[in-house]
Formats: sequence, C-alpha cells, structure tokens
Amino acid sequence: MRKKIKKPVAVKGKIAEIFFSIQGEGLHCGMPCWFVRFSGCDKNCSYCDTLYAKTGGSFMTSEKVIKRIEGNAPVVITGGEPTLQGEFLSELLAKLKGRMVFIETAGSKPLADADAFEHISFHAELPLSPDDRKFIRSISVRPFTLKIVVTHVTKFKDVLRAGRYLGRFDNSSIVLQPVSKGKKIDKAALRKALLFAGRLQRVYKEVRMLPQIHKLLDLK
Ligand code: SF4
Repeated sequence: MRKKIKKPVAVKGKIAEIFFSIQGEGLHCGMPCWFVRFSGCDKNCSYCDTLYAKTGGSFMTSEKVIKRIEGNAPVVITGGEPTLQGEFLSELLAKLKGRMVFIETAGSKPLADADAFEHISFHAELPLSPDDRKFIRSISVRPFTLKIVVTHVTKFKDVLRAGRYLGRFDNSSIVLQPVSKGKKIDKAALRKALLFAGRLQRVYKEVRMLPQIHKLLDLK
C-alpha cells in the first residue's frame, strides 16, 4: 500500500490588524503604507499605546495576509512584537519579496531576516542593556533607527550613552519621540525631547525629535 504524502501545514501568524494609513513615526513619517500588526508581546513598555495587540488577534496564513494588502505601497510590520513569530515572519517576508518592507520591533528575539528590510526601527527602554546592544549590532546590516520614547522618567545621561553607542554605526539614527497620552502629545515630554535632541546633536548628528503625527491627524 502506498503511503499518503502529507501536505506541509501552512504556518499561521497571530495578527491583530491590517490597515492602510501613513507612517506616523520616525524617519519615514508621511509615507503611505500598509500596516500588518502582529499580536502578542512579552514586554511591558511604560508608554505602550497598543495594549490591544498584546493578546487576542486572529490566526492567518501569509497568503491571507498578502490578499489583504492592495497595490504596491510599502508594508510596515509592527506589533505587538513581531520577532516572537519568527517563522511566520520569514514566510511572510518571502511572499513580500520585491516590495519595500519596514519593521518596528522591541527586539525580543533575534531578527533572522534583518537584511530583508528597507529600514528597521528598534525601540528600547533606556539605559540600553547588553542584549539591546547585541540586537543593535545584529540589525546594523541595514539602515536602522533607535526610537526612544521620552517620558518624565527619561534621563539625558542614558540618551547620551545610547547616542555615543550608536555613533559607531554610520547607518544609524535616533528618534526622540515625546510620549503621547491618548491622542494628545504630552507637552512636558515634548519640551524635554526638544531639549534632549539639541544636547544630543552636539555628539551625535542623526537625531530627530518627532511626535507621533498620526495621532495629531487623528489617523490610525
Ligand atoms: S513592545 Fe510594543 S506592544 Fe509590547 S509593550 Fe512595548 S510598546 Fe507595547
């Protein structure tokens, strides 16, 4: 009797949402993009504005995700924390080949396909830990940004240390992002981020101070 050949089971990803908007953060602000928000996260960032993506979501195959993404706009993989679903992420990236893909990550796990991204945005709470530095080295194969969300507890000495570390990488940048409260930018954090940006610029040139513009525009 001939053995039945089993079909490989498609890997499914847990997805919180897929939507079209403009990039509202970082160096590519204003760029119209598709966003694929992965569900699940193992971090507890004090400034988290996507708590809904830490749990829940729907299981989808990469084919199903691709079907939802129309046209040829760039794709932003975000979360939640995308590196926690590494196998699915690799499969999705293979299907997105030829398209401009960005990722926003907190670096929970190594990013196996770092070189597949147009740009990598890494956000970490300061001070940078040895693991954060290791993650930075691993993503430095591509242009990347360290996003620092400035809150009332952010200390300039930690920002300065991060800047000095990133100074080793020609393809790095730092975005100081004042924390938002709901749809509003925290005014005290905005003033602090501006002050920090000016001081950091004396030792590290590729610094930007940018609030989340999608919130100002009342967009997703
Ligand atoms: S990594 Fe992202 S989703 Fe997770 S807690 Fe931090 S901000 Fe929230």
